[in-house]
Amino acid sequence: MNFTLTEEQEMIKQAAKDFAHAELLPGIIERDEKQQFPSEQVKKMGELGFMGMMVDPEYGGSGLDTLSYVLTMEELSKIDASSSVIVSVNNSLVCYGLESFGSEEQKEKYLKKLASGEIIGAFCLSEPEAGSDATSQKTTAIDKGDHYVLNGTKNWITNGNSASVYLVIAQTHIEKGYKGINALIVEKGMPGFEIGPKENKLGIRGSDTHSLIFNDVKIPKENRIGEDGFGFKFAMKTLAGGRIGIAAQALGIAAGAYELAKNYSKERRAFGTEIANHQAIAFKLADMHTQIEAARYLVYKAAWDKDQGNNYDISGAMAKLYASQVAMETTVEAVQIFGGNGFVKEYHVERMMRDAKITQIYEGTSEIQKIVISRNILKN
Ligand SMILES: Cc1cc2nc3c(=O)[nH]c(=O)nc-3n(C[C@H](O)[C@H](O)[C@H](O)COP(=O)(O)OP(=O)(O)OC[C@H]3O[C@@H](n4cnc5c(N)ncnc54)[C@H](O)[C@@H]3O)c2cc1C
Repeated sequence: MNFTLTEEQEMIKQAAKDFAHAELLPGIIERDEKQQFPSEQVKKMGELGFMGMMVDPEYGGSGLDTLSYVLTMEELSKIDASSSVIVSVNNSLVCYGLESFGSEEQKEKYLKKLASGEIIGAFCLSEPEAGSDATSQKTTAIDKGDHYVLNGTKNWITNGNSASVYLVIAQTHIEKGYKGINALIVEKGMPGFEIGPKENKLGIRGSDTHSLIFNDVKIPKENRIGEDGFGFKFAMKTLAGGRIGIAAQALGIAAGAYELAKNYSKERRAFGTEIANHQAIAFKLADMHTQIEAARYLVYKAAWDKDQGNNYDISGAMAKLYASQVAMETTVEAVQIFGGNGFVKEYHVERMMRDAKITQIYEGTSEIQKIVISRNILKN
């Protein structure tokens, strides 16, 4: 076992940290309050190579490993989880999906722009009646020979209005159930494609979440990803890697809140001493630190599995399950350590507590992660 990062990984981690402090921290409270999308920041992250980190440079990416991506997600999420989810969806769902399963033409036409950050993408699986039960797709893509006709509604789509390219999962052969599902590339502005109003959210309020409505949208056949009927497998394979990104986001939120709470506990005085000298506070910090370190090893192990070509279904699910739980518990305790100051926006930890919750819900709820883990451990 080697727990040492390479020089390159250390440099990337430092670059992400510097960027988060210099570019994401300023204005973060206002963006959260106003639900403002961080357009300028996303553009700069594209220039730094953060939007297509694992994509081959041949297609405009940075050609880095999954661990470098995870380190970046962790550092960005310590400061701004709204920005990091934009990075995560673009990298691990959209770019990964296209690079792994797209045709050469699709990579030339879409991946290059997505990986360089020129445009951003969205991944559209969830529907009003198909969340955890993703096989119950009601959106249809009817085969009309040289094109599909797309009808239906997608819910909760991250980058819903800011994306230019959407990977949409839809049912083509209803009688075949999940084996009749396809993944289609849909462009913003295609006739019949409407974007619903922005959701007013508890957390990650800087990211834009919308429903999408498709009314007889004509999609050329060449925009189907993979063979006919590959759509459900495409979604599951892509989400398995996506979970590692969200696990890293959860880890970053937890670590960010912990660092703030630790520093505060060494400054704030009560009963004639710094509150860190009260054992009740010191023990909270000890628990937080231990849990974060445990979450970190699960997240890095999942990234390592992916880089080694090992199966990462179970390690990704365990990393997301545990890191999201740690994010929730750590941020609640961070608010407690800040006392009254924890309850107001200026000290950041209340936002982190709100942001943490989503990591237990999207890209598979914690209950769904337990289904993935238990199925995997019981099959042998
Ligand atoms: C801010 C935000 C951004 C999102 N971004 C995207 C996106 O970009 N693309 C996208 O496709 N989706 C996105 N989602 C959707 C997200 O993935 C779903 O909300 C999530 O998968 C849960 O689905 P659901 O909301 O329908 O809940 P449901 O499936 O209705 O679940 C409700 C509850 O029941 C539990 N449950 C369901 N089935 C079982 C079971 N078999 N056993 C035990 N418990 C069960 C769940 O764990 C949950 O606690 C986003 C959601 C949010 C809130």
